[in-house]
Amino acid sequence: MLVVNRDVSLRPLNTMDVDGTLRYLVEWETAEDLGRLFTDSTYADVVDGGVKFIGQGSNLLFVSRDYRGALAKCASRAIRLVGENDKYADLEVSAGVALDDVVAYCCRHCLWGLENLSLIPGTAGGAAVQNVGAYGVEFKDVVVKVNCYDRETHRIVSFDVGDIGYAYRDSLFKHSPAKERYIVVSTILRLSRSPQPRLNYGKLDALVADKNDIVSVREAVIAVRRSKLPEVGKTGSAGSFFKNPILTDQQMELMLAQASRSGIDVTGMPVFDVAGGRKLSAAWLIDRAGWKGVESGHARVWPTQPLVLVNADGFATGREIADLAARIMDDISMKFNVRLETEVEYL
Ligand SMILES: Cc1cc2nc3c(=O)[nH]c(=O)nc-3n(C[C@H](O)[C@H](O)[C@H](O)COP(=O)(O)OP(=O)(O)OC[C@H]3O[C@@H](n4cnc5c(N)ncnc54)[C@H](O)[C@@H]3O)c2cc1C
Repeated sequence: MLVVNRDVSLRPLNTMDVDGTLRYLVEWETAEDLGRLFTDSTYADVVDGGVKFIGQGSNLLFVSRDYRGALAKCASRAIRLVGENDKYADLEVSAGVALDDVVAYCCRHCLWGLENLSLIPGTAGGAAVQNVGAYGVEFKDVVVKVNCYDRETHRIVSFDVGDIGYAYRDSLFKHSPAKERYIVVSTILRLSRSPQPRLNYGKLDALVADKNDIVSVREAVIAVRRSKLPEVGKTGSAGSFFKNPILTDQQMELMLAQASRSGIDVTGMPVFDVAGGRKLSAAWLIDRAGWKGVESGHARVWPTQPLVLVNADGFATGREIADLAARIMDDISMKFNVRLETEVEYL
């Protein structure tokens, strides 16, 4: 199936609920469809303006009200068992399957590994690009291979997990030239048949009724997320707007000195030792700087999770949200000498 729609609304294509117009929306299912899109002259107009591949737009911000190029979405919802033994099962999941549908499928079949990622919006394709993570688990922990369409050779390329450069919310696919070259078509995931609960993150442990019951773990994760995060479909957001900063020892000292000059008490500041330095909580910095719940036009800092910026009433423009983000970044820079980076991608 390869369908091209002209002049469509951007609103259904992003969870931030920002409106605008789009020249071309391409819906595809298979690598063969992508072959036709890129090599059949019928689609030359669509391809010539540039094609950006998206999932559910749950990590995107449309700053321009008029997106000139084409956006392309995978419409396939296929999940296939492609290997198994008594210890594990390998699933091939199409790029277009909602990540939470994959988690629900795994929970129904008692396949462990993804349950902590319950209710994260977006697709399996998006998760493979973003290396989504929550409650001590990252998508890369279950990935075996990512199958991509290569826009240069028009062939399928299979990447082993070790060759994808996965790191905190990062992968090969987020950087040029791979970003422009590869389109995720499907991922191969390896799930465990024996219970592997990972509950040592936050309050999760206390909330899980039966640690060896995958459904209990999923329900606890969903309950915690619902208590903190805006609900997709009700309040527009793109999840965590900023990345948690990682500082070297020297940057850490500068940060502490600047906070003290700004009169900010850093007692209780969460600091985590990670590869490459110490990770701070961007939410804590934003909260301490006084931004929790702040509204600016139709954009707002979410009151129960200040890392999240929302389209408060559905009327915010992408520019309005980007302006609020810029003000927060400048303020954190001034008060803590830390430059936050956006996790959300601006288009
Ligand atoms: C309420 C809320 C809560 C969230 N919570 C979390 C969380 O806990 N943890 C977390 O990590 N994230 C979280 N997010 C962010 C978001 O869900 C993830 O970043 C998700 O992986 C984005 O997936 P998507 O399919 O919507 O991708 P999109 O946002 O559409 O795209 C993201 C990037 O992936 C690329 N891409 C998408 N599909 C393909 C493809 N098939 N081939 C090549 N490139 C592709 C796009 O070009 C873009 O660069 C949250 C978002 C929201 C709205």
